[in-house]
Amino acid sequence: MRLTVLGCSGPWPDPNGACSGYLVTYGEHSLLLDMGSGVLSRLLRYQAPEELDGVLLSHWHHDHASDLLVYQYYLEQHRGNPPIYAPLDEHPLRNLCGALNLQDLHDAGKLGPFALNVCPVEHSVPTYAWKVQAGGKTLVYTGDVSKITDSLVGFAHDADLLICDAAFLSADWHEGMPHLSAKMAGELAKTTKGAHLLISHYSPKQSQRDLLSDARSVYPKVTLATAGLRLSV
Ligand SMILES: [Zn+2]
Repeated sequence: MRLTVLGCSGPWPDPNGACSGYLVTYGEHSLLLDMGSGVLSRLLRYQAPEELDGVLLSHWHHDHASDLLVYQYYLEQHRGNPPIYAPLDEHPLRNLCGALNLQDLHDAGKLGPFALNVCPVEHSVPTYAWKVQAGGKTLVYTGDVSKITDSLVGFAHDADLLICDAAFLSADWHEGMPHLSAKMAGELAKTTKGAHLLISHYSPKQSQRDLLSDARSVYPKVTLATAGLRLSV
């Protein structure tokens, strides 16, 4: 598999960047994990959006889903309506996405060459981590998460690449915050069989260098997500 980071900011995009959006390709097949603000624009550099095998949504917060609104306009003028696997809880944004091919994320199962699984995680709204497997490799994307639970540890264990919420520095983190710190992302990576950790979903205000050293204080194999970064899994 090949991963392209389209956007990695939250809760708003950095200049010329985008909020959460990760393109996963395998051969001729492709998936998009989340579609936050600015992601459709960046997706167009790499991929015909109507030809995605599907879009996998972690949750309905705007920095993960708001470009689905304009994606509807795009699809009106292009042939194709890929499935959007999403939590089916009531959310105002979801109610504005009626033209999309929305499916319950629990029904994702298999899509082209990709085997898909979800795991509920702790966040302020219903949120799911995604596991994408193809070609004998495993990618786990935590979505937004505030707490490392036993179920998330079990779910992430076999990851070759772990894309993890790392919005804060551990010095600023306290119980009740909606995201993990970079150090906590490192601690989750430590429980895996040796995943490459990609820390992501950080504010444009945050120091990238400090986030990296926070994660590397507990785990060595860490890369900081930046828009345009491409990795092989
Ligand atoms: Zn969120």
